[in-house]
Amino acid sequence: MSDFQVEQNFLRILIVEDGAEDRMTYMRHLEKRFDGNCSFIECETGREGIQAIKNEKPDCILLDYLLPDMDGIEFLSLVNVKGYAGAIIMLTGQGSESVAVEAMKNGANDYLIKNNFSPEALSSAVLKAVNNNQCDETKKWKTRALVDPLTNILNRNAYNLTMEQTIRDFKRYKSPTSIMVADIDNFKRLNDRYGHLTGDNVLRSVAESINNTLRASDFVFRYGGEEFVILLKKITLDQARNVAEKIRHQVESSYCLDNETKIYATISMGVTKLLNSDTEVSVFKRADQALYQAKSRGRNRVEIAEELTDDAS
Ligand code: GH3
Ligand code: MG
Ligand code: MG
Ligand code: MG
Repeated sequence: MSDFQVEQNFLRILIVEDGAEDRMTYMRHLEKRFDGNCSFIECETGREGIQAIKNEKPDCILLDYLLPDMDGIEFLSLVNVKGYAGAIIMLTGQGSESVAVEAMKNGANDYLIKNNFSPEALSSAVLKAVNNNQCDETKKWKTRALVDPLTNILNRNAYNLTMEQTIRDFKRYKSPTSIMVADIDNFKRLNDRYGHLTGDNVLRSVAESINNTLRASDFVFRYGGEEFVILLKKITLDQARNVAEKIRHQVESSYCLDNETKIYATISMGVTKLLNSDTEVSVFKRADQALYQAKSRGRNRVEIAEELTDDAS
């Protein structure tokens, strides 16, 4: 598990920027947006930046164009020599679009015009760049360890890591958090009828439906065979119920094709919220009991765990 420890801070972001205020702004926005699931390495010069790439192996670099010892294009050419294959986002001043184009030609994934971007644009540029940049061997390995190859969503390892962190955060910050367990209904029958390969396609399709319904800050994991766990942060149990209904409906109305035949699937869901007294085991157990109720009450339904007494609503 030692390699997963690093992953507790999911994104390692190197900031090569000589302006302290700019560095602070980027960090504040990203920290907030990624809910603390990132760490930063700050460098003021190009040379320090190159060194940090070697030592710290960042997932993403935010690169200022005007650095004290070199410009961003020089930096990019040196980085290429060193074989860094992670993501790079160039930050240029107003009116420097031609520099931005040059940067992209030299290996930057994206660029942002300084003082003219929203926190949202910054964080989505980072996510996009990291997602599109999976040629780094270490990263590939890490990704494989955390992503389920069939559905391309996070796997059980990622769930364990995230849940641990979530419970710690919850106890510290008291931000209301919901957990859902979703299980495909009568999936064995579907496999028996259409075959395992079609079953796999249904699994992919359900994962996609769930994923498409969620916000960027939510998580969905493939917990086991045809079972998913969804984690919603900063949300009340009532809101979580609505999200669950939305997911349930989205799955019910989506289909995948087996030759010409449309194959529909449904899911049952158990929903609960984190309580102060919870452990990873107890919260999962409660959601799973609610799921069991949803199954016994007819499937294709959402049930909320009853008798919740705690502060967060
Ligand atoms: P229920 O509504 O009670 O959940 O019934 P079910 O048939 O879905 O539940 P059961 O636990 O009996 O069967 C789960 C099935 O899921 C059996 C297993 O073969 C299938 N399954 C698990 N993983 C995969 C997979 O990766 N691909 C495919 N095609 N099937 C899988
Ligand atoms: Mg500068
Ligand atoms: Mg099932
Ligand atoms: Mg199951």
